Amino acid sequence: MKARAFNYVRASTVVEALKAFEEAGDDASYIAGGQSLVPTLALRLQAPQLLIDIAHIPVLRGVDLQGDWLRIGALTRHHEVLTDPLIRQHAPLYSEAAPHVAHPAIRNKGTLGGSISHADPASEFPAMTLALSAELEIAGRDGIRRVPADDFFLDLFQTAIEPGELLVAIHVPVVQPNHRWAFHEFARRRGDFALVGCGILAEFVDDVVKHVRIAFFSVGSTPLRARQAEDSLIGKKLDQAAIAAAQAVVGDDLDPPEDEHTPPAMKRHLARVLLGRLLGEIARQGA
Ligand SMILES: Cc1cc2nc3c(=O)[nH]c(=O)nc-3n(C[C@H](O)[C@H](O)[C@H](O)COP(=O)(O)OP(=O)(O)OC[C@H]3O[C@@H](n4cnc5c(N)ncnc54)[C@H](O)[C@@H]3O)c2cc1C
Repeated sequence: MKARAFNYVRASTVVEALKAFEEAGDDASYIAGGQSLVPTLALRLQAPQLLIDIAHIPVLRGVDLQGDWLRIGALTRHHEVLTDPLIRQHAPLYSEAAPHVAHPAIRNKGTLGGSISHADPASEFPAMTLALSAELEIAGRDGIRRVPADDFFLDLFQTAIEPGELLVAIHVPVVQPNHRWAFHEFARRRGDFALVGCGILAEFVDDVVKHVRIAFFSVGSTPLRARQAEDSLIGKKLDQAAIAAAQAVVGDDLDPPEDEHTPPAMKRHLARVLLGRLLGEIARQGA
């Protein structure tokens, strides 16, 4: 199939992009890297009259340390997420996840903001946005607002971004010396969307878990925090008993859809195995 004919405009500022969207009467789509949008156009799952190219808006670019927060511009490409030293140092779960996102050709074009806005529940970056407790800077007609990741992912491919709004940047509280983290996913082949994946960010005081955020992907209609597993770990040393207790409850945190190839019971099993491995890795980081 081929995409329906559309008009194209290249915006050079956020205001220009917002205005173009409004003038199109909402029958428009922003395009960043095009790695998710173009396939949906080709399949006619979307058929907007107007494509607004946001890939040349300078304010959507760049990675900067701002006090205790790292600001990552929405247009930061997947391969930059993999290689940027500031992201590696301050928001390491993104860097750990990046090599698992698609393949080099897609990583050269796809953007972090595009992945988060698209909100595929099987995607790595949206879940890491949850694990890192990032905040999403969104521009709209009424100005700029910041939405915590916990309030951002609403449903399948649905986020707190209203029609016409633009994700400008991702703000991440920088990791601290008493933080430990781990990421992994199970996929049939490297670069495929994961069967189950998870990223964990934990804060320790005297070897005891003070806070922990466990974010799974590919196990529900949105990226999901495993809140019961998190609660079970608070105040505990990360020993075998604590890990087993978290594994015992994690299945209830997840909501995998029916799927003949990876049924819910299989996804829950994989999630338990993955959680055990990641928590074990985090425990060893403290040794
Ligand atoms: C073969 C293949 C394999 C892939 N494998 C994976 C994988 O393993 N894991 C994974 O996570 N992804 C995978 N992807 C998806 C890829 O990572 C996409 O690049 C990413 O999901 C979207 O980023 P983009 O910049 O290309 O967004 P686009 O395709 O340009 O846009 C996607 C959607 O987000 C909107 N959007 C984009 N930027 C903004 C913004 N700043 N503000 C508001 N709305 C915006 C667009 O309007 C559109 O609706 C794969 C893609 C392909 C083609």
